[in-house]
Amino acid sequence: MTTVRFPPSPTGHLHLGSARTALFNYLFAKANNGKIVFRWEDTDKERSETKYETEILEGLKWLGMDFEKESTQIYRQTNNMDFHANQLEKLWESGKVFPCFTSKEELDALRQKAQKERTNFVFWSPFRDVSRSELKAKMDAGESFVWRLKVSKNQEITFEDLIRGTVVVNSNTIGDFVVARSDGSVLYLLANVLDDMQQEISHVIRGEDHISNTPKQILLCKSIDTSVPVFGHIPLVLDEKGKKLSKRNVQPDVCVLISDFQKAGFIPAGVINGLAFLGWNPKTTDEIFSLESLESVFDLKKVNPAAAKYDYEKMKWFNAQWMRKIPTAKLIEYYNEYADANYKELTHSKAFNEAKEKAKTLDEFTTEFEYLIKDPGIDVTKLAHEKMQITSVLAKTMLFEVRTMLEKIEEKNFNRTFIREEAVKVIKRLGCKNGHFLWPFRVALSNSEKSSGPFEIAEVIEKNETISRITRAIENV
Ligand code: GLU
Repeated sequence: MTTVRFPPSPTGHLHLGSARTALFNYLFAKANNGKIVFRWEDTDKERSETKYETEILEGLKWLGMDFEKESTQIYRQTNNMDFHANQLEKLWESGKVFPCFTSKEELDALRQKAQKERTNFVFWSPFRDVSRSELKAKMDAGESFVWRLKVSKNQEITFEDLIRGTVVVNSNTIGDFVVARSDGSVLYLLANVLDDMQQEISHVIRGEDHISNTPKQILLCKSIDTSVPVFGHIPLVLDEKGKKLSKRNVQPDVCVLISDFQKAGFIPAGVINGLAFLGWNPKTTDEIFSLESLESVFDLKKVNPAAAKYDYEKMKWFNAQWMRKIPTAKLIEYYNEYADANYKELTHSKAFNEAKEKAKTLDEFTTEFEYLIKDPGIDVTKLAHEKMQITSVLAKTMLFEVRTMLEKIEEKNFNRTFIREEAVKVIKRLGCKNGHFLWPFRVALSNSEKSSGPFEIAEVIEKNETISRITRAIENV
């Protein structure tokens, strides 16, 4: 059975890179009728925190992936420590691991020597071939040590990565690596392999930052005589400058954590769609996919092995598409969860339908709403426009024309199409530029340099309010 896993360490926030790893595992499991195991890798007691556990699980749930339901149970690495210690004992009995007494100072000196000689630091422990009885005697004497795997020299380790293809590494670049502390507490590399073995993981799909661990973990699988899972390493996400994407290096308004997207007013479908396209695409021109529709088209083999560039504007674009696509009732629900008390329980559906055409996030939605449901006031200096050669005198003249036009339109015809047709006629009659007529008209209604068009706003706020906003602008300009 295809079984994948998502094993976060609860030591930090839910970053979009980890959410994407969770998503790719989730989709892979669905596409292969498999199952997914969720596991907390919480052995780092100092850095693990329950608040991160909540944030990670809740963040994934918000995105539509409920791991409390998807995983048969939520595993916890710290609950498995006896099993780890037992397995370590077995490895020692079979001579696969050994205690290494080389001190930290000696290791540092060797590392520095390698650095000077510009060679990679590879450590072959002098204790790898020492007899068992001698090693035991040293342990009994209380000398400090760590457990290392006894790695065969000059051995080729090959694996077929689902994304990167064939990867070959020689054990001469690895050396005897540490697998546990002297107290029997097993470190990440081995704990991860042992848990994967026990939870019968068939496929390990994880970030490329782990690719250098893979040959070591393959050696560990062989030492404990368990089958080697299939690996797939998802390319890194880079920022605009080509550096690994991190919250610290981007502009404060660029979302990197899932909680950033929530605060900025993204909706889950928009974020999921954007995450899926970080390194993957269906190789067609289709771009809009829900979590459900991704389940049937997603193919790990189509993931691009090159690093993915993060484009925040594109994320917003995906979100805007989804805000327009979902039913208005659902959008109202999201909005009410998101918006502050002033805007809660908004049901002005005309305003909703208008605002969603323009806004890319729920936050921008509030801005769009503002002038549709409340009088935005008027800053008359905005009515003039230097580049378009609109002086305040011209703006005033045009607003008179706008008002005369609007007054003549009957209430039953007061819709965007009709008003637009009338405006075209007036512009033609006046022989003026479109902008000369439309700019003051729109700004008088929205008090904003960027907003929906004047016809759309007029339709939403209706005849009386439209005329009163135009009149106020005329009186003040
Ligand atoms: N706990 C590791 C991490 O969060 C898991 C790595 C893996 O998938 O093997 O990076």
